[in-house]
Amino acid sequence: MQIIAGPCSFETYEDTLATVDFMTKLGITMIRGGALKYRSNPADYQGQKEVYQWIEKLKETYAFKFVNEIYEPIMAEDPLIDVIQIGSRNMHNTNLLKQINGMAPIILKRHYAASLNEFLNHAEYLDESEVILCLRGTMGLWPQEQRFLPDITDIPRLRKMIEERGKNYKICYDVSHSACHKDYVEKLALVALLYNPDYIMCETHPAPYRALSDAQQQLGFKEFLALYNKLKNYEKFYAQ
Ligand code: PEP
Ligand code: MN
Repeated sequence: MQIIAGPCSFETYEDTLATVDFMTKLGITMIRGGALKYRSNPADYQGQKEVYQWIEKLKETYAFKFVNEIYEPIMAEDPLIDVIQIGSRNMHNTNLLKQINGMAPIILKRHYAASLNEFLNHAEYLDESEVILCLRGTMGLWPQEQRFLPDITDIPRLRKMIEERGKNYKICYDVSHSACHKDYVEKLALVALLYNPDYIMCETHPAPYRALSDAQQQLGFKEFLALYNKLKNYEKFYAQ
């Protein structure tokens, strides 16, 4: 299992440097983080294009893969992006999927109201690419306090359905968007590990209290380090 970590959005050069330095020293080489954000509400933080300059500068010193969400085909052509992320809200955007097919690798996030079958149908638009399917929590039927509910048992369900379709898609479990709050992230991640995902994605921020998006669910570095150590120990234990 590989960990993909980093903030919801990169907001300043200093924070970006702090994240890249911290993660690469831990041996985490897939670093996520939004630049231009796809938001449901135009009043919400929309991101900034300067992030690409910061990443370019940091790549001169650090070896890491930049995992970044795009929402227009032209954005995917940026050579700085090593792993393209398609957000939950764009899972159904077949025109976008067709246009990035062949670019690689792609993390396709499940729409929060999509069945696994529908999720897999959309992944087939990306058949020329290496695909990582990311479960990230779904919406419940009734109004609820948290935005999303963990879809953790869909890890083995999805695995079985991938095999039935004869595909070799990898599976990522996003513990941050599915837990909705940092207090639930650690235990959710440890349970997710039992279901054997290929990747676990976790949002982290050098100072979550001042994050401009998803502040409530991001782990500070200290909390993330504790989780990281537990994941590594549990992984060894389960492998015995
Ligand atoms: C994100 O990963 O920061 C994000 C916006 O995720 P999702 O598309 O799953 O809501
Ligand atoms: Mn987020």
